[in-house]
Amino acid sequence: MPPQKGASPSEQSLIKISLDYALRVAPATLCGMSSGTRSRHGTGPRRALALALALLTALACAAQGPGQAPESTPESTRDSTPASIATPHSRAVEGGVARTWTADGPRVLGIIAHPDDEFTFAGVLFKTATHLGGVCELLTITDGQGGFKYATIGAALHGVDLTDEEIGRRELPRLRLQEQLESSRLIGVQTLHYLGQRDHRYTTDLDEILAPGADVWDLGAVRRALDARLAAGYYDFVLIHAPTVTTHAHHQAASLLALEAVQRMAPTARPLVLCAEVEDGPDNGPPWISPATKEAFPAARSTGGPFNFDRKQPFGYRERLDYQLVIDAAIGRHVTQGSLLRMIGQGTREEYWLLGDDSDAARERCARWFTRLAEPQYPAREYEDSAGVNTGAGAPTR
Ligand SMILES: [Zn+2]
Repeated sequence: MPPQKGASPSEQSLIKISLDYALRVAPATLCGMSSGTRSRHGTGPRRALALALALLTALACAAQGPGQAPESTPESTRDSTPASIATPHSRAVEGGVARTWTADGPRVLGIIAHPDDEFTFAGVLFKTATHLGGVCELLTITDGQGGFKYATIGAALHGVDLTDEEIGRRELPRLRLQEQLESSRLIGVQTLHYLGQRDHRYTTDLDEILAPGADVWDLGAVRRALDARLAAGYYDFVLIHAPTVTTHAHHQAASLLALEAVQRMAPTARPLVLCAEVEDGPDNGPPWISPATKEAFPAARSTGGPFNFDRKQPFGYRERLDYQLVIDAAIGRHVTQGSLLRMIGQGTREEYWLLGDDSDAARERCARWFTRLAEPQYPAREYEDSAGVNTGAGAPTR
């Protein structure tokens, strides 16, 4: 469905800020504004502006290092006013020639729990944006404060002991937001929507998040934010993590809340929802989603697939490059997340399953998208001697 002209009232309450602008503004100026963003600022656009300023402050101060940062983190915990941040990925490159985004490709939203989960969809997002002229966005539910256990490498980089729980919870939200902005920019994401809910701890117990009375996340605010984003975005596809019982309960909850939100939309307005897993081996069938989850969330039943994205599709001079290199570079931006860094070089295939729509038309739309994602993207180039001795037939392949 093409985007409609004009923004809805809920969209108008979001504030989109160019990161180019944010990084040009003197960090000291922004940090000086932080004291004005720590308290409540009423409701609506004014409060959204306050949160956006807090996020910008965090980004600017992250560039200075933790030693100069204010003690406060962004107004994040349990504050679900969405902030939308445009990453500076304003142009795609096709065949070596820069062109302006055409936005004539699919509109895709990844809904994720943590500010590094985008790597699961990274190949599809990158190629949708750069090859198909699509619009790719992310909605991240939590602030990532729980990612301190494996933050040793990031602690060395930033000069502060991020592995200490108290320090990590205080410092990681702004550091991880910066990391996610850089990662997102690499994989072609234009806009990041950030809810800032509390990343409380690792668990696979979904009840900690979604059971009646659970208060880790402000579920009402998350549901409202999802409804508003989906209504404003006119997405063709929503990507989520496979809500299997063995994955982090935050991933399960983010996916199930996304499915619920899509089901609340009018049938003709719903995007198709695909869940993803990164795989190395052969297809083992649909992801194992528990009977209890399917009972509680009927839309979690898989209805088609798998639709595969091969991260090893070769391109570039002598086909020495592939999409896994793009993804590895994006993962490498998450330097505070040591356990994620182990995923560099891992996972050759993104496997997607359609959920909740068993129509032939839905499966055909997915198939058409993934067929285009398997097309050759970059034309082969030949070089002359001026490019080096590794050119021409019979030259060494370096
Ligand atoms: Zn995660």
